[in-house]
Amino acid sequence: MAVMRLPGPSLRILYAYSGVARPLSTGAGRRLRGRAGPAREARDQEVGMSGRDDTAAALAAAGAYRRLAEQALLDRPLARDEARALLASSDADLPAVLWAAFAARSRHFGRRVKLCVLQNARSGLCPEDCGYCSQSAVSTADIRRYRLLPVADLVAGARRAAATGASRYCMVTSARGPSASDIAHFARAARAIRAELPALELCVSLGIMEEGQARTLGEAGVDFVNHNLNTSRRFYPAICSTHTYDDRMATVRGSSRAGLGACSGVIIGMGETHEDLIDVAGELRALAVTSLPVNFLHPIEGTPLGARPAPGAADCLRALALFRLANPRAEIRAAGGRERALGAAQGLALFAANSIFVEGYLTTPGQRHADARAMIRALGFEVEGEGAPRHGQDCANVM
Ligand code: SF4
Repeated sequence: MAVMRLPGPSLRILYAYSGVARPLSTGAGRRLRGRAGPAREARDQEVGMSGRDDTAAALAAAGAYRRLAEQALLDRPLARDEARALLASSDADLPAVLWAAFAARSRHFGRRVKLCVLQNARSGLCPEDCGYCSQSAVSTADIRRYRLLPVADLVAGARRAAATGASRYCMVTSARGPSASDIAHFARAARAIRAELPALELCVSLGIMEEGQARTLGEAGVDFVNHNLNTSRRFYPAICSTHTYDDRMATVRGSSRAGLGACSGVIIGMGETHEDLIDVAGELRALAVTSLPVNFLHPIEGTPLGARPAPGAADCLRALALFRLANPRAEIRAAGGRERALGAAQGLALFAANSIFVEGYLTTPGQRHADARAMIRALGFEVEGEGAPRHGQDCANVM
């Protein structure tokens, strides 16, 4: 892989703000690795020299949160009191918290940022009552409502996603769960997309799914099934009454047993407590999810949570850091609502997250891919796969 650039502008800002003039020497990095043993050494080789420098420098700048980062680098679960301290930390401590998160992020993902694109394949026709969702049976939100998109439209969406430089394309339906004909439909779409765009990662989010349905989709070329836990078991009944936490856990487990990657995440800012965030971070670790989208409540008028204020930027960044440190090897995606909740600070999400969604969400707009790309470069990160020929084609041909 390409060796990453040494610190870009925002990294320098954080270094300066944290009282760290520049990254530690590679010698310091070697000493750190020496304690970690051969397995860690092998993983370091995947990241590249400046990734190792980043990890060592981040540890040095993590201050009171260094122990959390060290635990994450050893892939050990966070101690609950340390997780509490992180979430309750002051804004003045935010740079140190982000450094701690960046230590784990840089170890496993360097400075790479994966772009993902969502496709709302059936909008606004759900019988469930999730309080945050504009597509639910109880929502009066002014959104587009349409039935299942034809396979040709799903394939066209995949082409558009590839043309933005996205590595992952996720097809989502509003539904309690997929019917047999839905599964056949997405299997046809997956085969067509896989034939044309073999390198594009394919994810589906179709609601409560059985293991056999996931297996069928996997055989057709789907890589991941998404089904978010969204929040803690304790808080879940406050946001949904038509299905249970166990329904969601069963879908994630069944998809894993079927051999697909487990994608499951959260929504920050629905009224949960710090204890709830720590609980769900632990649940996702126990499920061994490899993909963890962190959404930030975008209160939509006409939904039960429409009058809630959007969560604050600093709280969102602390939560992102918690999920990174609790799940250091997972791809953490800064997802829906990040533009609104984080505002001008959204680039700081990249210190914990290694992936973002571009070109909008299911019913709300999002950052355009060109703006995201400019943000990523300006902050000293790099778009995953950028510069190499993508998906076996010239993107100009599909614009
Ligand atoms: S199941 Fe999905 S689409 Fe349906 S209300 Fe809940 S979040 Fe919305």
